[in-house]
Amino acid sequence: MVHISTESIHGHDFYEEETGTFKVPLYLSAIFEHPDRRTGEARKNDRGFELKYSREENPTVRAFERVMEKLEKGSHSLAFNCGMASIAAVYLSTLRAGDTVVIIKESYGVTQELAQNLGKFGVRTILAGPDTEDFVEKIRPGVSLALVETITNPQARVVDVKRIAERCRETGTRLVVDNTFATPLLYRPLLDGAWITLHSVTKYIGGHNDILGGALVLDDGSDLSELWNCRRQIGSIMGPFEAFLALRGASTLKIRFETQSENALAIAEFLQDHPRVKEVLYPGLKTSPYHTTAKTLFRENCYGGLLSFKVKGGKVEALKTLRSVKVIKPSPSLGGTESLLSYPLTSASKTLAPDVQKELGIGDDLLRLSLGLEDIEDLKEDLSQALAAS
Ligand code: PLP
Repeated sequence: MVHISTESIHGHDFYEEETGTFKVPLYLSAIFEHPDRRTGEARKNDRGFELKYSREENPTVRAFERVMEKLEKGSHSLAFNCGMASIAAVYLSTLRAGDTVVIIKESYGVTQELAQNLGKFGVRTILAGPDTEDFVEKIRPGVSLALVETITNPQARVVDVKRIAERCRETGTRLVVDNTFATPLLYRPLLDGAWITLHSVTKYIGGHNDILGGALVLDDGSDLSELWNCRRQIGSIMGPFEAFLALRGASTLKIRFETQSENALAIAEFLQDHPRVKEVLYPGLKTSPYHTTAKTLFRENCYGGLLSFKVKGGKVEALKTLRSVKVIKPSPSLGGTESLLSYPLTSASKTLAPDVQKELGIGDDLLRLSLGLEDIEDLKEDLSQALAAS
């Protein structure tokens, strides 16, 4: 059995006989010879798609897709120019007028916004959860698509994907799992029966805050052509340079993610004892209501690199903390080498309706921290001085 760290390095299966090259080259070519002059036939890649134009297929992108297939234990993958493009391809190729999609209430705001915009084409969106049982209750026969995030944003709730997948099987609902925050190192949704798992590659897989990318992985190839055609029609394939960097990012995913998770646990414990902090939300803490689900679903003692915390004194003090960090950068996004602090009310959760924000507890005292790879003592010192300033 080949392990995930080995797959992340060698899973592209690239080898060029003529030169002995086993690193994937950057194919900066928009076009390829078509048809093949030697055979007069269309030149096809390993999954049978014609290689003629990079809006459809590109060898560097294809190598990255092969790695994603292995990491998520699927059989087919498509890479996109950002995470939202992969979500758009899923919606557009699956949903028809009259269909209903159920989305976890605490999820990336733009994921919800895009589904709600499909209302003008007759698609109905229901927001459910954020806790597993409420979500399961809303998946009834006739629901076409359900979308959850393994670890929700920004409060790092852990959803029992196994339980939701069981319910989706009963109702014939296709389950899509956004596995961006958990990564395949913590959990692989396809093994529990999800239809698609997807990523904002921009985050942990890319891992360096220097590319935008998206990817989806399926276990069943029967839906691949429709998704592929959607990508071709919209023109949302990942660029070859991004694929080159994503391959490099994926090859160090394990060591980065483990260090980020260690840093997150250490900072969660540090903040829990801090007099200026009201509450810390991190599934790795034994006090978290999501700790048990995380322990069941995830690899032992690894809970991801993202936490949120509430600052005493509300909005004024939270924003002062945000402004005062020095090593940590005040910025949205997550999963890269730099630790990033963000204010969900004006970033990831900005587009949620105010009543949804309130119901979820996304208040004006909440800050979200994505741990990077800096030294843990420097991060603690930075947070100490920033909280003291507040
Ligand atoms: N999914 C999740 C969980 C996200 O947090 C984001 C962006 O923050 C996306 C999808 C969208 O990804 P991208 O920004 O790469 O389009």
